[in-house]
Amino acid sequence: MIAISSISFGEDVEREVLDTLRSGMVAQGPKVARFEVGFAELVGTRHAVAVNSGTTALIAALRVLDLQPGDEVLTTPFTFVATLNAILDSGATARFADIGEADFALDPDVAAQCVNERTRVLMPVHLYGQTADMGALMPLAETEGLAVVEDAAQAHGATFDGKGAGSFGLGCFSFYATKNLTTAEGGMVTTDDEAVADRLRVLRNQGMRRRYEYEMAGQNFRMTDLQASLGLPQLSSYLQQVESRRRNAEALRTGLKDVEGLVLPSELAGRGHVWHQFTVILAPDAPIDRDTLAQRLSDRDVGSGVYYPRTVYDYDCYREHPRVIASPTPVATSVARRCLSIPVHAALSTDDVDRIVAAVREAMEA
Ligand SMILES: *Cc1c(COP(=O)(O)O)cnc(C)c1O
Repeated sequence: MIAISSISFGEDVEREVLDTLRSGMVAQGPKVARFEVGFAELVGTRHAVAVNSGTTALIAALRVLDLQPGDEVLTTPFTFVATLNAILDSGATARFADIGEADFALDPDVAAQCVNERTRVLMPVHLYGQTADMGALMPLAETEGLAVVEDAAQAHGATFDGKGAGSFGLGCFSFYATKNLTTAEGGMVTTDDEAVADRLRVLRNQGMRRRYEYEMAGQNFRMTDLQASLGLPQLSSYLQQVESRRRNAEALRTGLKDVEGLVLPSELAGRGHVWHQFTVILAPDAPIDRDTLAQRLSDRDVGSGVYYPRTVYDYDCYREHPRVIASPTPVATSVARRCLSIPVHAALSTDDVDRIVAAVREAMEA
């Protein structure tokens, strides 16, 4: 079976973890600090503050914006549930603007129409490894006076006009096991703003600046040196990993370009895609539907994944929620029924890629 993701660590990671174990410093310490410096360099920000998950990165970023009840965060409905849960944790109200099919991310024109006098934060999600249209979203945020929180959980090292995902506003990253860069569980908030970075550091450590001196009601959002030991060695080879993903994506695009009924993902002009996922859309007139394609791939030992099967607000626990405003988002609703991600990860061999192409081609023949 060719799996949708592959998790493996090199001897460099094994050595680093062992070194940490033997040092006795397993909680947050010098390795977290080194990981922060290296990660800030990858993203291109002055600061990076490590936390213990992508979800807590989002929660911490929204916390330092001091949102008040009634404030709204405008985001995409086509995302992982953590985006919405973090907004609700902040006490703010979530509003959703529809996506575009080309990048699966916030459509700037629709977003502009959804901004109102309560909107405080614009929260794009850089889905599948490609950034949202920051060239249009940043001017919108500026005109409307909105803070920008980027959910870059899937976009380590992605760029828009050469500028890193997570360097436009407050950048929130995840190092969950299946992400491009992993510490098993972990997260990071990136920013150029020294005062914001300082508040994040105090917040993640119980609101404590010095021992038993509390400045705010804080949390335990700390990453451990054990986690950082997984991430640190990956930093130096990360761009090579992305290069493998990029090669695989190119081979998939070439092998599948003439398959009728299949819309292939592409790297849009000016955007550096890090190919966290390779997600196809079944055209409305495709000979088979998405679930049939997934089943037929599975029959041919090719794994696939649906990210995400429904818009994020389309669950009973959110439908009646007083702080979830679910206006219709027809593009996202339709794409959620028609999208399928196929393997693109760096561990694929050329043989694997050929097998995936052959399996998709066979499967798409009605
Ligand atoms: C993974 C992910 C998160 C949450 O990250 P965790 O580390 O799992 O908490 C948030 N948003 C998106 C888009 C993600 O893919």
